[in-house]
Amino acid sequence: MRDENCIFCKIMAGEIPSRTLFEDDDFKVIMDVGPAAKGHSLIVPKQHYADIYELPSELAGEAMKLAKRMATHMTTVLNCDGFNIMQNNGEVAGQTVFHYHLHLVPRYKDAAPILTWTQNHFSDEEMDELAEKLSVK
Ligand code: AMP
Ligand code: ZN
Repeated sequence: MRDENCIFCKIMAGEIPSRTLFEDDDFKVIMDVGPAAKGHSLIVPKQHYADIYELPSELAGEAMKLAKRMATHMTTVLNCDGFNIMQNNGEVAGQTVFHYHLHLVPRYKDAAPILTWTQNHFSDEEMDELAEKLSVK
């Protein structure tokens, strides 16, 4: 599966260069060109799936296994102090490249924060309704 207008499909096919840290039949791990921190990289499936909803469950599992492997290796090599694994779905969620990818972001003590949000407050009634609606039956 490939989308002719997709930059990550072109990178996966080797038509656009990337700094590739790992490659197997299903994935490439490439360095992000606009890194949020030193070493920020991306796990990208070779086939085009726009987001988590399109990604087959089996590949989702393999991506997370690879994330563990890469995070462990990168933490050792970079001697970073923490690690974020993130993934955006949809423009409103911050997705800018519509080919599924997992962000691997090494974190360092004293570096500027990269993830912040303001906590919301919902009433107990709303929280109970949400819990009911969201429960997987
Ligand atoms: P997202 O906003 O979650 O869709 O993340 C897209 C990421 O892709 C951003 O962090 C970009 O810096 C990164 N990116 C865009 N173009 C390239 C490219 N040609 N090579 C590597 N990373 C890229
Ligand atoms: Zn693509």
